[in-house]
Amino acid sequence: MVTSLEVIEKEARYFLGTYQRMPVVFTGGKGSYLFDLEGHAYLDFVGGISVNLLGYDYRPLKEAIHDEVERVIHTSNLYYNVPQVELAERLVRYSGLARVFFVNSGAEANEVALKMARFYGKRKHGNRYAYIAFRRSFHGRTLLTLGLTGQEKFHQDLDPFPPGIFFADLNDIESVRRLLKEEVCAIIVEPVQGEGGVYPCSPQFLAALRSICDEQDVLLIFDEVQCGLGRLGSLFAFQHFGVTPDIVTLAKGLGGGLPIGAVLVNEKVVEITKKGDHGSTFGGNPVAARSACVVVDTIASETFLESVRQKGVLFGQELESLRRNFPEKVREVRGMGLMWGLEIPGRAKEIAHRMFERKVLVNACNEDTLRFLPPLIISEEEIHHGVSVLQEVLEGL
Ligand SMILES: *Cc1c(COP(=O)(O)O)cnc(C)c1O
Repeated sequence: MVTSLEVIEKEARYFLGTYQRMPVVFTGGKGSYLFDLEGHAYLDFVGGISVNLLGYDYRPLKEAIHDEVERVIHTSNLYYNVPQVELAERLVRYSGLARVFFVNSGAEANEVALKMARFYGKRKHGNRYAYIAFRRSFHGRTLLTLGLTGQEKFHQDLDPFPPGIFFADLNDIESVRRLLKEEVCAIIVEPVQGEGGVYPCSPQFLAALRSICDEQDVLLIFDEVQCGLGRLGSLFAFQHFGVTPDIVTLAKGLGGGLPIGAVLVNEKVVEITKKGDHGSTFGGNPVAARSACVVVDTIASETFLESVRQKGVLFGQELESLRRNFPEKVREVRGMGLMWGLEIPGRAKEIAHRMFERKVLVNACNEDTLRFLPPLIISEEEIHHGVSVLQEVLEGL
């Protein structure tokens, strides 16, 4: 049998070398636990980066995938397939938006949203092409989505980016107004910023963005790739805030671990769209779409969402009590639902490593912030266990 060390050495030999990974090889999972090659169990507060919403062995998900694999794995979008129209119907019904376009990843979903916004700006207003995004945002790793990512570290050695990208400050509506020039076609925002350190928008701020966009006929895009799909205790993040955007992008958790993304748009966007405006070879692939149907149906249940809200309150309380116990180490607790950030200036990466040694997975999204994105099926006992391990680590610092 292959050993972890062999896998790690092979990766170092053959991979391009862009990833910094924890030294572990996972080969199985159950509930909120992952198992490594040597059989050790790790409690998972990363969830494949907000992907494994239903954990690692949700039976109905695996059965649906098996069943679909036995039918046909891929056919392309030159033809129709059943799972993708089933998924489209569900997403439209649950969101109240008008139409869907399927892609394979978050970056790609945002690319489509931004492309649709350009079509809207050009076809409706002549020459609107610019975008407003926010500092600390993250929208993906293509050149345009990186351009709209408001973090310097992602821009190094990559200039120039496409023209017409402006950055405002989150929750500062005046900073948005100042940038709202005639050429702006869209504003893109994460309702809760993820990668940038878990910074939630206020409901008032999102409502104010909505009014500005209505006044100027600018499209409002919510990037819900990380914070959507039940994570905040509502199926869509925008439902939690009570503000409906013109476009919503989804990916990460949508396929239950298989790659699929979606762009949901309202009638305004449908009206200006023409045949041939966009396409994708894989987008809405039958296996991924079938898996996504199970994810969406499971999460859309009010009982399921209520359990996420309850566990979210508990998680927040436990982190808040850590902050009170270690006021000199923990600066701030941010988040909601099952999306939390803990600001521990300068020591987040070190703590993530120490928790890893104690078999609890958490992600340090930068030097200062620990991020928690557990599977939505995590139990209260598991939350409690993970936080108590964090408590021990903080005591030992
Ligand atoms: C992860 C993420 C993306 C990019 O998704 P990929 O599937 O990695 O391309 C975009 N936006 C947000 C908010 C994300 O968290």
